[in-house]
Amino acid sequence: MKALVKRAPGPGIFLEDVPVPQIKSDEVLIQPLKTSICGTDIHIYKWDAWAQKTVPTPLVIGHEFMGKVVEVGSDVKNVSVGEKVSGEGHITCGVCPNCLANRSHLCPKTQVIGIHTHGCFADYFPLKATNVFKIPEGVSDEVAAIFDPLGNAVHSALSFNLADRDVLITGAGPIGIMAAGIAKHLGARNVIITDVNEVRLKLAKKMGATATVNVHKENLSNVMETLGIQEGFAVALEMSGSPQALTQSLETLQPGGKLGLLGLLPPGISIDWNLVIFKMLTLKGIYGRQVFKTWEQMAQMLQEGLDVEPVVTHRYPIEDFQKGFDVMMKGESGKVILEWVDEEAVGLEFEEEEEAQPA
Ligand SMILES: [Zn+2]
Ligand SMILES: [Zn+2]
Repeated sequence: MKALVKRAPGPGIFLEDVPVPQIKSDEVLIQPLKTSICGTDIHIYKWDAWAQKTVPTPLVIGHEFMGKVVEVGSDVKNVSVGEKVSGEGHITCGVCPNCLANRSHLCPKTQVIGIHTHGCFADYFPLKATNVFKIPEGVSDEVAAIFDPLGNAVHSALSFNLADRDVLITGAGPIGIMAAGIAKHLGARNVIITDVNEVRLKLAKKMGATATVNVHKENLSNVMETLGIQEGFAVALEMSGSPQALTQSLETLQPGGKLGLLGLLPPGISIDWNLVIFKMLTLKGIYGRQVFKTWEQMAQMLQEGLDVEPVVTHRYPIEDFQKGFDVMMKGESGKVILEWVDEEAVGLEFEEEEEAQPA
């Protein structure tokens, strides 16, 4: 079968032929139909310091997907062959105190598919049946393929009360862009998003941000003044990983403000802790999603009309995966979807067409 593989340490990803994996009794075999490239995949592609110390090789990469179940293990009762699914790529241990207390998103032994173990950029891949999420009514295949990062955005946005509040989002990557739409959906008054990338700021505006600020060209304080934000933001979501953005968040939060931290920051950066102390700010680290609480919440928001379709900007057949990685690395995209051919379905369609021919 085809798979996108990190064969050995070093830059690049390659489409290779690898054996079809065998499933265990508690797993299902999934045939992905649409997969999505994550910023994490770009780190692995570039083989940066984080990837070098985290990712074993050879490895099939990828963790954002939707597809259909083609085989179920002998112990699996919750999923059937033929069902359309997405799934949680964080595999938790199930026996640590946090897992046992139903807080598996805090499991210290979490393994992530496509990072620690083989991932979903393949014709077939195995997943623990308890990690499968059935795609709800009315959710498109493309949106189901980005449930993973959408879950990051929903988990971040629901960490604080945003209704009628002024919210700052620093970083207009796909998660920041989606968080802007979610914050508006949740009733935030003003949602201001900052970045230095005009393409992505435009997408955030399309998604519902009240105002966008290119911090290389504009002054955030001026925009706040225009919008009548005097005391500062009630909530800030740091989604860029930029130390300057973190500083700006701390400076513009109002006393008692809350800061969610999702962007990965470089090691050893310093902040003005007295801002945190004197303004009595609350800082919260956010990683992954709450399983399956966040998944249910995002499904409900989508069914209630949250529209995240604008964040998907590029689609490529899997053979053109390199184009997808290139456009991501240029920063000229939102989410990039890689499409896999469902050979069985193509075959069926072909047969039906033949039968429909007049004799
Ligand atoms: Zn991801
Ligand atoms: Zn655990």
